[in-house]
Amino acid sequence: MRAIEDLIKPNVKALTAYAVEAVQCAIRLDANESPYGFALGAPRLTSNRYPDPEAAALRRALGAKWSVKPQCILHGNGSDELIYYLLTAIGGPVLIPTPTFSMYRIIAESLGEGHIGVPLDGQFDLDMDAMHRAIGKEAPKLIFLSRPNNPTGNSFMFEKVIEIIEKADGLVVVDEAYQPFSPAGESFIELLPRYKNLLLLRTLSKIGLAALRLGFLIGDEALIASINKVRLPYNVNALSQEAALAVLENETQVEACISAVVKERDKLFAQLSGLTGIEAYPSDANFILFKLNTAGGLTAEYLYRKLIEDGILIKKLGGNNGISNPLDNCFRVTVGTKEENAAFITSMKKIIGETCRNEKSEDTQTDIGDRRYHRDKP
Ligand SMILES: *Cc1c(COP(=O)(O)O)cnc(C)c1O
Repeated sequence: MRAIEDLIKPNVKALTAYAVEAVQCAIRLDANESPYGFALGAPRLTSNRYPDPEAAALRRALGAKWSVKPQCILHGNGSDELIYYLLTAIGGPVLIPTPTFSMYRIIAESLGEGHIGVPLDGQFDLDMDAMHRAIGKEAPKLIFLSRPNNPTGNSFMFEKVIEIIEKADGLVVVDEAYQPFSPAGESFIELLPRYKNLLLLRTLSKIGLAALRLGFLIGDEALIASINKVRLPYNVNALSQEAALAVLENETQVEACISAVVKERDKLFAQLSGLTGIEAYPSDANFILFKLNTAGGLTAEYLYRKLIEDGILIKKLGGNNGISNPLDNCFRVTVGTKEENAAFITSMKKIIGETCRNEKSEDTQTDIGDRRYHRDKP
């Protein structure tokens, strides 16, 4: 028999498995989950029958909510699975602005499909010259645009996205995972009838139902039918279908949780912006990107570890191989409950204040933690 090693495809060998932070912390603000959950109850289901392969009731309910035909909706075990199906049915090359959600690249690599990363501009918006050049040169079959973008939190300019949809001769997937948190719920959904090459991704993961693993692809009926061919039968289990229907039935409770997160986000943004040596970036999502100015002597790694010591886990971004990355010294913090956010800010102030005091031990200031001593970019 051949060595097991030799049986693994080269593109799969080159991959590193998606790492989910395993640190145990009481306050978890690292994965963009909602801090508010819903009791899932015990649906009266028996275990011997397969689930509805078409998730018909759920697609009907969502179709009514989004004003689209159920035939224009494809259900996935999380939107991650739908990205996988898109790459299976359509393939690459895939064009991805960077930095963005890492699964577009990871899934392309695992399926051996080519991907092109186009850096975002200084405002984390689409660099249109670079996008046009890449579209002209590489003729991507798929373009993934996360809007609002993870992990930067901003929404690419509406007109820029329209221009890309109109210029692309392949498909444009606008991933609206964070759309519920964006101003007035801004969405591309009404534009679906106008553009046959436009697809939307939605997920229930960020609005309090991450445990269910439910994502949806929305688009042209014929296109959805083609992608549906590669979907595994029974991909969404019966408990998830049933539980999602029950929660979505009570729309006001879901909306109340979203509003609470938005309100807390805006408060958290103001507090983070007021911290010494921290630059926070405005967010349309349920998380905030912020950058640490390390000129004050505090390193990103140190801040990250100190927060964990206080039982608070956030997401550390940037490179880890010495190659410069636009997100070096950046973090992504998920908006938690009022109490969790307060604990995070308290811990941040303490860590920053201590470093600052050590540095300026002669200084008599005591509340220096609130002083902006390095606001300017290096
Ligand atoms: C979290 C996230 C997803 C993943 O959603 P699931 O439905 O949980 O698989 C998709 N896209 C973006 C941009 C995300 O941040």
